[in-house]
Amino acid sequence: MYNDYSALRSGLDAGKTSVLEAVKYYLDNIKKGKHLNAFLSVFEEESLARAAEIDLKLKNKSAGKLAGMVIAVKDVLSIKSRTLTCGSKILQNFEPLYTATAVKRLIDEDAIIIGKTNCDEFAMGSSNENSAYGIVKNPVDNTRVPGGSSGGSAVAVAAGMCMVSLGTDTGGSIRQPAALCGIVGLKPTYGRISRKGLTAFASSFDCIGPFAKNIADAALVLEVMAGHDNGDSTSAENDVNDYSHNFEFRDKLTIGIVPDLFEEGLQDEIRLQIKEVIKKLASDGFVIKNISLPNLKYSIQAYYILTTAEASSNLARYDGARYGVRASSYNDLEEMYVNSRTEGFGAEVKRRIMLGTYVLSAGYYDAYYRKAQKVRRLIKNDFVKAFKDVDLIITPTTPTTAFKIGEKTDDPLEMYLNDVYTTSSNLSGNPALSIPIGFDNEKLPVGLQIIGRDFDEVSVLKLGNYIMRNC
Ligand code: GLN
Repeated sequence: MYNDYSALRSGLDAGKTSVLEAVKYYLDNIKKGKHLNAFLSVFEEESLARAAEIDLKLKNKSAGKLAGMVIAVKDVLSIKSRTLTCGSKILQNFEPLYTATAVKRLIDEDAIIIGKTNCDEFAMGSSNENSAYGIVKNPVDNTRVPGGSSGGSAVAVAAGMCMVSLGTDTGGSIRQPAALCGIVGLKPTYGRISRKGLTAFASSFDCIGPFAKNIADAALVLEVMAGHDNGDSTSAENDVNDYSHNFEFRDKLTIGIVPDLFEEGLQDEIRLQIKEVIKKLASDGFVIKNISLPNLKYSIQAYYILTTAEASSNLARYDGARYGVRASSYNDLEEMYVNSRTEGFGAEVKRRIMLGTYVLSAGYYDAYYRKAQKVRRLIKNDFVKAFKDVDLIITPTTPTTAFKIGEKTDDPLEMYLNDVYTTSSNLSGNPALSIPIGFDNEKLPVGLQIIGRDFDEVSVLKLGNYIMRNC
């Protein structure tokens, strides 16, 4: 199959292949990769029928910008009349009434949505071991996790089950699995893509973004999804750049490095490989500058206070009355709520609801929630200051390559530390990209993260593309 969309599109336009052929290819790979457990639902018949329709449109020269691009969607995004589980038992039979704006924009350009992918329950997790529908396995080594929470989406792209997929990133859930599976994952600026139809985890952090094998496909899909939407008041009014035509230029940008982030806790091979990339960039004429982001060391703490607080409020709606599953036995209303939530939610979701309720409670609000909000501002200020001196910042995406299934499930804190490099740009809202740069001694993929100024996805993608081609 074709490696990127522009090659596929040329093949389609020249009549060398068909959308039907592309869809069959991916459906076949989904079947072959069933043991990876990447999909929660596959829209086989509908995809084949749509393929035939789009082939006709291609013939008539009326096909959209993404004609025949096969896309998988994380199961926290709604598609009308298609079960939306969020990886949770509590929503196992829930069918939404409308399609998420981001997904609708893709369909309107003739992309084909091939299915919904597995994920950690309500996107809470770093390893995809928190799904009520079973763990997802890393295609590079089936004894290891693919990362989370968008693990199914990352695996779907890495294992050739679709060309592009959508994930969501609240604290790293696109970038971390992209790094662990060896593909590209982009978290755009907060507000760049409408959240309408995205099931809320932590509303002031949640972002939708693409996984792909290359920058060109990620840029194209971003371009189609981005832009203001009346259905989401936090979606940005800023102009949408021509991302898909702008990533090729080679500007000599100034790149910031934070030395603290390369100290202990980081796997040696990751440190080494990123240093190699930086050396090459310097010799190619990029300006490399050491910078300091002094408050970044509080990111994990602030992140897990603020996101659990928001989650405890957002998840209050799953009460057995309005959505999804209701407990079968109860004596009164309160017991119905309690039993439905007790039976419906998994352990990690319960842990976060309790933590979030605690940090918001009257006696602790000032000590935890308010303080964490202040820290969030300090982290944002660090970035604003740094971006006066540099155009982009390079960091590792993850402290280690893919870890073993079960290795961290007994220790939530150990699991949370996975997010040490990714949460800061969700606290600040800045765009951030993970790209694959090589493999460690066990042949596991290594990721590098590029963080940019607000709404400067263009520079982030440009540097990503440059490194993937030249370093
Ligand atoms: N691993 C992080 C968490 O568990 C990030 C989740 C996400 O980005 N959805 O909160």
